[in-house]
Amino acid sequence: MILPYLVRLACLSLACFFLVHLALAIGMNWLASWVLALAKRSKPNSAARRLLAARLFPSLAAVLVVAAVCVPSYLWLEPEATVEHVGLGCLAAALLSVASWGIAAGRGLRAIVLSIRYGRYCRKLGCETRLAGENTRVWVIEGAAGLFALAGIIHPRLVISREVLENLSDGELEAALRHERAHRTSRDNLKRLLLLLVPDVLPFRVRLLAGLESLERGWAQFTEWAADDRAVGGDSSRSVSLAAALVRVARMGAPREASPLMTSLVADGRDLEARVDRLLSATPGGENPRQGRPRLPAAIVLAAGLFGAVMGGPATLQAAHRLLEHFIR
Ligand SMILES: [Zn+2]
Repeated sequence: MILPYLVRLACLSLACFFLVHLALAIGMNWLASWVLALAKRSKPNSAARRLLAARLFPSLAAVLVVAAVCVPSYLWLEPEATVEHVGLGCLAAALLSVASWGIAAGRGLRAIVLSIRYGRYCRKLGCETRLAGENTRVWVIEGAAGLFALAGIIHPRLVISREVLENLSDGELEAALRHERAHRTSRDNLKRLLLLLVPDVLPFRVRLLAGLESLERGWAQFTEWAADDRAVGGDSSRSVSLAAALVRVARMGAPREASPLMTSLVADGRDLEARVDRLLSATPGGENPRQGRPRLPAAIVLAAGLFGAVMGGPATLQAAHRLLEHFIR
């Protein structure tokens, strides 16, 4: 197929993303059980961070390779011919890439729309109130079973059912509020959206890549454990209160309305027993969220250094260009 210069660049970039993403995702899928085992040996906060980074790595690295190698080598070394041939293989890979990105964007957009709709539902049916120790107002909703959640992305708000408020003791309510506050500080709803926006390797479900799904499930579990730890802060009585609150809220049942971008106190019934056991068997430590946080400036310097090395290496770009020439035909 004959395509103009810039359309050919777009096609090549998308096809390159597809191939690099596929290779890195297969690699990460293969490493997933090892990454999970490593995460289980660290504190929940660090474990959640590592699993999120591992899950996002294939997509982010593929974007970086396209931006740092594919695009510069094409712009620098490809003569600006008006039209050029593009092979069917390259075109197919580009179309698969477009479909994967489209599905991811649709998924993210749907979650945002549902989240906005849920906010409207809370405003309509809920009664705004202030709780002790809470800076922002809380929506209290009648007849919403065991609803105790933080909903929204930019300014997440607490949504609690009237039944939960009436049934929890002061200590249990305080521990539960601290748990949701921990989710707010960690911006877990935003991370949830980020995971939805990550494109799949193929625009359809591939059972062979179950390792990547296990990284996401692991992230969700350790995120809850990390919020429990920060809520408890090493205090044994708070630990017991939080365990009691979890059981009490779980017994009230799941609310009918929910948003894909919200973190509930009892997020996953399957993990409830493990969480309660953890809280009752040993007082989870008050892990400082800032401790062990990846040193962002150092990471940025490293990434910039790598970027510079690639950009500054004409030999790399020439080799990449030769490779792309074979690929595009
Ligand atoms: Zn939670």
